[in-house]
Amino acid sequence: MRISLLTVPVETNYMDFLPEVRAETDILVPSTRSEGQLPVIPKIAIVSLIKWMERHGYTRDQYDYYDVDMLLPSDKELLDYFKSYNPTIIGLSAVVSTCYAQVKRISRLLRQACPDAWIVLGGSLTASSNLILRKTEVDICVVGDGEIAWVDFLDYVKARGRKKDFNALGNITGLAFLDDAGELRFTGYGKQIPAELNPFPDYDILKAGLRTRPQEFANYFRPGLGSTHFLTDPRSLEPHRRPMLAQLWSSKGCVARCTFCQRSTKGYRVLGVDSLDDHLKMLAKRFNVGYIHILDENFSSDREYAYELARTMKRHDMLWMASGVRVSSVDYDDIKFYKEHGCVSLKFGVESGSQKIMDVMEKKFTVERVFQTLKHCADLDVYSPLAVMVGMPGETCETAAETGRFLGRIAHMQGVDPQWLGLSCFYALPLTGTPLYVYGQQAGVIGKTPEKEEDYLLSVSGSGASKINYVNLNGANVRDVVWWDWLVKLEAQRTFFDLVKKTPLGEPGHMQRVLVSDREREIVGRALTLRKILDSVKNCNLRVVKAKIFYWVEDVLMERVVVPSRLVASLPRWLIYPLFKNLVYVNFLVQGYALRAFGKSFSLWKKWPAVEPVREAQKVHAREVQRVNVKLNIQRSLRRVVRERTREHPPASQTEANQDILSIGL
Ligand code: SF4
Repeated sequence: MRISLLTVPVETNYMDFLPEVRAETDILVPSTRSEGQLPVIPKIAIVSLIKWMERHGYTRDQYDYYDVDMLLPSDKELLDYFKSYNPTIIGLSAVVSTCYAQVKRISRLLRQACPDAWIVLGGSLTASSNLILRKTEVDICVVGDGEIAWVDFLDYVKARGRKKDFNALGNITGLAFLDDAGELRFTGYGKQIPAELNPFPDYDILKAGLRTRPQEFANYFRPGLGSTHFLTDPRSLEPHRRPMLAQLWSSKGCVARCTFCQRSTKGYRVLGVDSLDDHLKMLAKRFNVGYIHILDENFSSDREYAYELARTMKRHDMLWMASGVRVSSVDYDDIKFYKEHGCVSLKFGVESGSQKIMDVMEKKFTVERVFQTLKHCADLDVYSPLAVMVGMPGETCETAAETGRFLGRIAHMQGVDPQWLGLSCFYALPLTGTPLYVYGQQAGVIGKTPEKEEDYLLSVSGSGASKINYVNLNGANVRDVVWWDWLVKLEAQRTFFDLVKKTPLGEPGHMQRVLVSDREREIVGRALTLRKILDSVKNCNLRVVKAKIFYWVEDVLMERVVVPSRLVASLPRWLIYPLFKNLVYVNFLVQGYALRAFGKSFSLWKKWPAVEPVREAQKVHAREVQRVNVKLNIQRSLRRVVRERTREHPPASQTEANQDILSIGL
């Protein structure tokens, strides 16, 4: 039996840029992958599957790993590889649901190369199993934690080959498949391996996946001093510091269930501290690592563990940051302890400055708690970058303005003008396996048939949560929709200036100076210069120039001229806001004509069905009332709203019932 494991990239169009980049990468180091300041995320799901396989008797000569996500191979390369390896079973790891287009493409090529192989898909995209199993060449989906279900399925194939025995398949927990009647069967979310067996990245396995281009391995590391987060802490500049930055997870899962968040596992578990100790020793010795980025969704929910982790980091002289922290998971003393043990930055899911929207998201903490925690960080000189998200059901101009005012307060408290903070304002993107996605289906915006769902997943393939990809589930007028992010920024700036008048900022410290100079560098780097235009013309590649022109009103005029202007902030809102709101709207219309002329399309410009404004759920389960802080309103949670609507329209078939469970997620 031969087993093949591969990662799935999200980019739908990488074949467009591949030829010119590949010509270089065949002979030297520069990579097709660029993830900015931080390294490429290690493929931990693959590492964990392989380790579990090896524990259960599957040996290196029985499997091969192909990191398609890193190598971005052409159709021909994929076909050649699979024809020559000729696997019995192929496992695709699709960690985000925006890679549907690639799952469809790759599974088609695999079927062409290996007509008799089992094709199995794992990862968050399996929340759309009904569609995957009907519209792609995938035979089986592994849903939830994959290690145990995957090895159980390997054992099944070892015993039965290509035969479909639905009773036997039904006994493997964690699978979704179509039975002989064509109905979707779901055997429950995959069982979890013991927490201490969740691995840290194994760089030998990661390297093996790079096959003929080992130079791409360098992508798993970046210089620590190339990252703003680390630069904000003067300890980064100490001469003894080892230079490289690596990434790892210290826990799996999250204690919360935000209604827009695609969760791949139930509950929250931490990894072993002893294995962390060994891992850090190895990183320092083999890769000269002195900086660590902790990728946890939910760092520090287990304080005892987090303290032990911090001590271990300090013992290995690592500076570290964690980019997924809930404000309710840390207080002043925790942050102080982490700082004393090498922590330079904690990133919190702030999301909104409106309590109403926080409740819709089911964040389960208050806006004021966010402010307090960020203040602790500022007092202790721990950098906390800010990002918010607009566009959830229930968002209005009032809630967006509240978010802006909240950000202005935070910027003043942090002692940095918002224009230098590089505030990120995302737009909510409905991902399969979330209440937000089901809400979109119930509202008739996202179709429920495999054909319609496929249309949607193809349209969001390769997309991020940016404004141009916004799917209007909110029902707001598009004139408001395109204005929300600017309203947030303008209100943040105005609030900041008002507060500075009352309480002027003191002398900037090291962190403030780094943030300002970093942002200045970014602005200069992004500007469209004559040289860039000439280079584009010379290389017959006008994509950059076209993009700069397309975004000029927003990226240049609004971002750099209007928003930071003291004059604009001093004029009455009733005078100035309608003017800029209309400007942004006219720009949106012009962009729409340009897109049509070039045959392109993005979700923001699509005509979505009209949606009624969201209403609070009527009933609350008694247990929820006890669990949730009285200041929060659980009836606003989108999960409640969606559940009530589901009860009103019970599923008509086994397929619908199973797909409903999968769609709302864990
Ligand atoms: S958004 Fe963050 S806090 Fe919320 S469920 Fe996801 S990981 Fe947890």
